Amino acid sequence: MTPATAALHDRIASLRSDVRGSVIEPTDAGYDKARTVVMGGIDRHPAAIVQVDGVDDIRRVLAVARETGAELAIRSGGHSGAGYGTTEGGLVIDLRRMKAIEVDRASKTLWAETGLTAAEVSQAAGEHGLAIGFGDTGTVGIGGITTGGGIGYLVRKHGLAIDNVLAADIVTADGELVRVDANTNPDLFWAIRGGGGNFGVVTRFQFNLADLPQVVGGMLFLPVNAEIIERFVQLADDAPDEMSTIANVMPCPPMPMVDAAWHGKLVVFGLMCFAGDAGAGEEAFRPFRELSKLAGLDAPIADLVRPITYPEMFPPEAGGEEGEYHPLAVSKNLLVDKVDRGVAEVIMDRLESLDAPMRVAQIRVMGGAMAKVPWDATAFAHRRYKVLINVAAFYEGEADRPAKQAWMEEFSDAILAAADATTRCAYVNFVNDEGPERVHDIYPAETYSRLQEIKRRYDPGNVFRLNQNIPPA
Ligand SMILES: Cc1cc2nc3c(=O)[nH]c(=O)nc-3n(C[C@H](O)[C@H](O)[C@H](O)COP(=O)(O)OP(=O)(O)OC[C@H]3O[C@@H](n4cnc5c(N)ncnc54)[C@H](O)[C@@H]3O)c2cc1C
Repeated sequence: MTPATAALHDRIASLRSDVRGSVIEPTDAGYDKARTVVMGGIDRHPAAIVQVDGVDDIRRVLAVARETGAELAIRSGGHSGAGYGTTEGGLVIDLRRMKAIEVDRASKTLWAETGLTAAEVSQAAGEHGLAIGFGDTGTVGIGGITTGGGIGYLVRKHGLAIDNVLAADIVTADGELVRVDANTNPDLFWAIRGGGGNFGVVTRFQFNLADLPQVVGGMLFLPVNAEIIERFVQLADDAPDEMSTIANVMPCPPMPMVDAAWHGKLVVFGLMCFAGDAGAGEEAFRPFRELSKLAGLDAPIADLVRPITYPEMFPPEAGGEEGEYHPLAVSKNLLVDKVDRGVAEVIMDRLESLDAPMRVAQIRVMGGAMAKVPWDATAFAHRRYKVLINVAAFYEGEADRPAKQAWMEEFSDAILAAADATTRCAYVNFVNDEGPERVHDIYPAETYSRLQEIKRRYDPGNVFRLNQNIPPA
């Protein structure tokens, strides 16, 4: 054991008596479960996972990280594709015990601690006919998704999750608890809306809520060809802002509600939400359903779109929050101005060229409320792009990974070329561990230097470095 490791172990031993939460070390029962994050292939061994219970616990762990130099991971829902919710040999601040939530029906706002998931917050707001949009997956933690942006089912009607943040409480690197809002520490308020986990541990957010007693939404399975992809994107772009769509072009999953003849065949697996009343929603869905005719079908392959409450957009997931679902996946994120026939043909061609059981081009049409916010109002700058695309494939073991990685890189380059993209841009929450240069794709130069300056003031020692890192100016 090196002197540095010995010092860290001594400090962890004292944390055991100092914190209200739990300290889990490699010799403790439950260590393997506690160190596991959502994405597969991430097998890191923290020196300790501290399941914190309040601000004082966070301060104590931060003090140990500062004094020992140990790498520090912040974990909310554990969905980071880069595995930043865990660390090799360092400390994890695991927030999942911190789930306090207070809904204020009168002001249509809520305060939520960052151990909560998107589904849990949506459920609490939904009990009052109110809603806030996070992403498409209920088990994602509000800590990670909100500090990065939050692109979900309400993005075109109500903006990104960060566009609905009114205030936050943050423990900064020196252990201070800081309130941020439009008038209090506005620089830090700006930075934590898109700047990720670079600036401190957000303990809770205050969100503005929308009146949304009902939506029309769910899964829509359509046949696919290049014309259908192109038309789908046009329709989604022309649709009222109430409509937000995610078109997953992928092999049809073996779901019982879909005729088995379609299982494994390429389809559009649409996840769609109309944030408005049933009549207008029906009308808005009609042209999407009719896309089936472009492939000679009278109706969609499967149509589960119906009037529901917003929390019902998040059905229970396989394995739940503590699930055993840990996919091995490669993925690449890109932003483009268009998906015309040329881009659609690239998508069809590359998906047809691979035989992986799970391969996808996930197409999200942006615009609406998110695009109306000025680009420099928050640290999420890429608001003018029309379409966000994620290409991804599952791989089976390390030997299979390079082939899938090469396919994915070529695929994303081909999309960018077909879309006449002149710059590479990305959304922080969909970027994996892709090196420091990639951080410049997330933050344009002006945003990056402003973030660096704020980082210098609040975290000059780069205690919060396990993220898409902004080194202090
Ligand atoms: C299945 C799946 C579906 C997804 N769908 C969407 C989607 O529809 N829309 C979308 O926008 N994103 C989506 N994402 C991406 C997701 O937003 C990011 O992976 C996000 O970082 C996950 O947050 P988390 O809290 O669950 O993850 P964690 O791994 O716990 O945290 C990720 C990082 O966020 C930062 N962080 C977390 N909590 C805090 C905090 N309290 N204070 C400061 N920093 C913090 C830290 O840097 C941490 O390393 C999806 C991811 C997955 C795996």
